[in-house]
Amino acid sequence: MIKKIGPTPILPRHRASCHCGAVVLELDLPDGVVDPRRCDCSMCRRRGAIVATVPQEAIHIVQGQSQLKLYQFNTRTAKHYFCGNCGIYTHHQRRSNPDQYAYNVGCLEDVNPYDLGQVPISNGVNHPADRQQAESEVTPAASPSIDPSQAVGHEKSVG
Ligand SMILES: [Zn+2]
Repeated sequence: MIKKIGPTPILPRHRASCHCGAVVLELDLPDGVVDPRRCDCSMCRRRGAIVATVPQEAIHIVQGQSQLKLYQFNTRTAKHYFCGNCGIYTHHQRRSNPDQYAYNVGCLEDVNPYDLGQVPISNGVNHPADRQQAESEVTPAASPSIDPSQAVGHEKSVG
């Protein structure tokens, strides 16, 4: 439970917005910022946002609902929302628990998420929901490998 980030107190109802301001959210954060983290799944490693969790009913879109774009991938359980104008990720419905949402801590008004310092990285690569699927895919995908003799030959020709 984090009630202050840098100089900014986290309000019981804190505003959040995308970069261009088209999308404005209000988040009920009675316990402050809960469980801030990064994730290393194929999407999060690209977007790089620090996220935190809120229950579904704590997230209120007060402006820009029509600007929000939905992106889904893989099992298409999680719903990732971003501003269709500036492209900033604002929030998503979680895959591990669809009653929960995560939001972009960097979108919170007057919050610099880097004031949090190091945050945990959750293991999105080995998501529980992927495990069965991954196991069935690993066997056929395991065959392509680098031929070591080829790699050495390439190094020699370069040097
Ligand atoms: Zn925007």
